[in-house]
Amino acid sequence: MGLVTANIHVKGVPLRRAFVEHTDPTGLTSLGWAITDSNGSFTFDAGLFSNSVDIKIHCQNSVVQVLNAPVLSVPIDIHVSAANGGTLKVEKTGHNDVLDHFRILAKCQDVYDTVWRQFRSYNDSDRGDFPLRRPAGDVKHVYNTASRVQLNYPALLQSAIPSILTFVEPDASGNHSLPLMHIQNRIIEFRVFEEDAAAHHVDPMIIPHEFGHAMHSPLCQAIRGQISKRSTSVSLQLMQPMRTTTSTGRRLPSWHLSRQ
Ligand SMILES: [Zn+2]
Repeated sequence: MGLVTANIHVKGVPLRRAFVEHTDPTGLTSLGWAITDSNGSFTFDAGLFSNSVDIKIHCQNSVVQVLNAPVLSVPIDIHVSAANGGTLKVEKTGHNDVLDHFRILAKCQDVYDTVWRQFRSYNDSDRGDFPLRRPAGDVKHVYNTASRVQLNYPALLQSAIPSILTFVEPDASGNHSLPLMHIQNRIIEFRVFEEDAAAHHVDPMIIPHEFGHAMHSPLCQAIRGQISKRSTSVSLQLMQPMRTTTSTGRRLPSWHLSRQ
């Protein structure tokens, strides 16, 4: 047999803990699933005489699912061939229409790892890579059923009404009452990507900031549950991560709609 191990990057950033599907060359038949490791690597069995595999890279990782949203919020995957030992660069695969989506996917994961997962209750042993917990079962089952934040880009509502900024629905009905982020198109919102921000002398703070709202919401729900059931001291402990997002210690509103 020939094991194929390859690495996925997007603009120099490893695509960590993303869902990858091994397919036949048509992309129609699924042969297996994997989650990339912390270097963006995966391994599939290519069979006896091959040292490359056809894969679909899904725009979903352990943290968030990014949807292509200008019309209907649809899941995204790209079908590519990966050679053993190679580094696959998403920007070189001819799928430029969804390149920004994969960059946002990697960015949310980085914000979670850098900021949120060190705090209660995201540092609980049953969370780790999966802030909203990993269900039991194989990788395909986890892809289909895991609770995760969803993210619409570029968001439909903002395309129609540019004065509406990026915002987060804390408990979206379409995402099992979990957070849904709506990210304004980069052609109007210059703070999504570093290069746009640099060109316009603003901070590229949209993803870290809005992802913070998405991480607050499940905590808030947990706190409401704790307050109704248990002592106030427990709920105050759960509140600690919230203070980290604002230098004034002020609690942020859970979502916001328009430019102030
Ligand atoms: Zn905000």
